[in-house]
Amino acid sequence: MQITQDPIKKFVIVGGGTAGWLAGATLGNIFKHSDVEVELIESEDVNIIGVGEATIPPLIDILESLGIDLSEFISATQASFKWGIKFENWYQKAHSYFHPFGELGQRIDGHEFYQCWLKLKAHGDNTPLMAYSPEAMLAEYKRFFVPHQAMNTPLAGARFALHLDAVLAGKYLRDFAQSIGVKRTLGHVELVDKTLDGQIASVTLTSGQTITGDFFIDCSGFNSLLIGNALNTKYLDWSEYLPCNRAVAIQTTLSDDIAPYTISRAQEAGWSWHIPLQHRMGNGYVYCDKYISDEQAITTLMDNISGEPLTPPRVIPFKTGLREQVWHKNCLALGLAQGFLEPLESTAIHLVSKSLALFVRMFPTKQQNTILQAEFNRRIHQDYAEIRDFLVLHYCTTKRDDSPFWQDWQQRSIPQTLQQRLNFFAQHGGLLNETEALFQATSWYAVLNGMRVTPMAYNPTLDALNLDTLRKSLTKGRSALEHCVLKQPSHAQFLREYCPAQHP
Ligand SMILES: Cc1cc2nc3c(=O)[nH]c(=O)nc-3n(C[C@H](O)[C@H](O)[C@H](O)COP(=O)(O)OP(=O)(O)OC[C@H]3O[C@@H](n4cnc5c(N)ncnc54)[C@H](O)[C@@H]3O)c2cc1C
Repeated sequence: MQITQDPIKKFVIVGGGTAGWLAGATLGNIFKHSDVEVELIESEDVNIIGVGEATIPPLIDILESLGIDLSEFISATQASFKWGIKFENWYQKAHSYFHPFGELGQRIDGHEFYQCWLKLKAHGDNTPLMAYSPEAMLAEYKRFFVPHQAMNTPLAGARFALHLDAVLAGKYLRDFAQSIGVKRTLGHVELVDKTLDGQIASVTLTSGQTITGDFFIDCSGFNSLLIGNALNTKYLDWSEYLPCNRAVAIQTTLSDDIAPYTISRAQEAGWSWHIPLQHRMGNGYVYCDKYISDEQAITTLMDNISGEPLTPPRVIPFKTGLREQVWHKNCLALGLAQGFLEPLESTAIHLVSKSLALFVRMFPTKQQNTILQAEFNRRIHQDYAEIRDFLVLHYCTTKRDDSPFWQDWQQRSIPQTLQQRLNFFAQHGGLLNETEALFQATSWYAVLNGMRVTPMAYNPTLDALNLDTLRKSLTKGRSALEHCVLKQPSHAQFLREYCPAQHP
C-alpha cells in the first residue's frame, strides 16, 4: 500500500448559505490540525435563500460530530424541537395524520410491530397506529424531554430534530467554521477559469482578485455557478413527478404554544408549511403555477397564518430535480446547486450533510478518480430518487378531487419504483427497503396508514400468535407509553428551562 499521492492542499467553497458553511465546518474540522486550506467565498450581493427551517434527526448527529454544543446551538438559532410532521387535509379535508421520527412499538416474539397491529385491526381493534409511537404521542401532548435521559422507558429510543432560524444557523456555522481555521472571503464570483482538460483552476471576483484551488465546492444556491454554468452539467428535471414549482414564504409572530412538530397543510394547489421557532413562525406555501397565480398563493397563505406578518411575502421559483453529475471533475455541488426536492419532508439540509459524509468516505486526491465519482453520483441519485418516491406517496394516495391540482393527481403517473413498492405493500404489508435509505419502515407505515392505504392481509405467520395475548401485550405497551409521556414537561417549559433564546 502506498501513502497518499498528490493530496488536495486547498478547497475553495463558493457560497455561504447553509450548504457552504456546513461544508466549511465539516472540512475545517477534518483538516484543523493540518496544512490543508479551506477558503469560502460569499457574495454580499446575493442573499442566502434563508428558508431551510425544518430539519430531520441526522442533523443532531452532525452537530455532535462537529463537537457543537446542542443547547448553545438551539439558543443561538432560536430553535425549537421537532418530533415529526403533522399532515393536515392531505387524504381529504378535515383529516390529519402524523409522521413521527423513530420506531413504532416493539417486535413481539420476533414479529414486526406493524404486522401485530395489522392483525389486531383485522380482528376489529380500532386503536390508531400512532398510539404506539413515542414521538406521535409526545407531539400530541406537546411534551419534550431528552430521550437518552429516559433510559429503560418506552421513550428511550425517541428521535427528534430541530426547527431553526436558517439565517442564524448559517451565522452560527460560519463562526464555528472560522474558529477552526476556515478562511472567509467576501466577494462576488464573476468568472470561473478552467484548465485545458476542463477542471476548474480558479475563480475571479468582481474586485479582480483571483482565487485558485485544487478542489471546488459549489454551494452557490440556485445560481449553480460552477457545476452548472462553468462545467455545463445537465439538470435532470423531475417536475413530471412533482409538479410544484414555486413557493411563497412569510415570517409571522407566534400566536400559540410552540408545538414540537411541523405542520404541513394541503391547499388548493399544493401545501403550506408552518414551523414554530422560539421567536417567530416560519410559514410558506409550495404550489404549482399551472393552477394558481402568485397573488392567489399569497392570499391563501395569509388566510392560513395565525400570527402577525413580520416580513413581506417572498416568492421563490424552483425546479424539482438534480444535476446529472453532482461530482464532476474537481467540483462537488451541494445544497441548491446540487438539486432540489420540495421541502415536504425537510430533507434538503440532510442531503447536504449526507453528501458531505459520503464525500469524506470517498475522499479524492488531485488525480481524477472516475470510480469514486461514479459511485458517489450513483448513491446521491439513489437518495434523491428514494426521497422523490416518498414525497410522491403523499400526493398520489389522496382522495381529494376538489381542485384541478388534486384532480390531476388522480391520473398522474408515478415513478415505477414507487408503484413496485405499493404493489408489494398491498399483499402482506411488506416494504422494499434499502438498508441505507433515509426513510425507514416507520416513515412508510406512517404515511401509508395516514393516507389509509391498507394491505389486503397481514402476514400469515401472525396466525401463530394468540390473539388475546397479542391484544393484552399491545394494550400494556400503549398505556405504559402514555403514562411516560404525561410525566414529561411541556415543550415550551423544556425550552424555557434548558435552552432559552434571547428575544431579538
Ligand atoms: C421554499 C423552500 C423551502 C425550504 N425548506 C427547507 C426545509 O424546511 N428544510 C430543509 O432542510 N431545507 C429546506 N429548503 C432548502 C434549504 O433552504 C437549502 O437546501 C439550504 O438552505 C442550503 O441552501 P444553499 O446554501 O445551497 O443556498 P443559498 O442559501 O441560496 O446560498 C447561496 C450562497 O451562494 C452565494 N452566491 C451566489 N452567487 C454567488 C456569486 N456569484 N459569488 C459569490 N457567492 C455567490 C450567496 O451569496 C449565498 O451565500 C427549502 C428551500 C426552499 C426553496
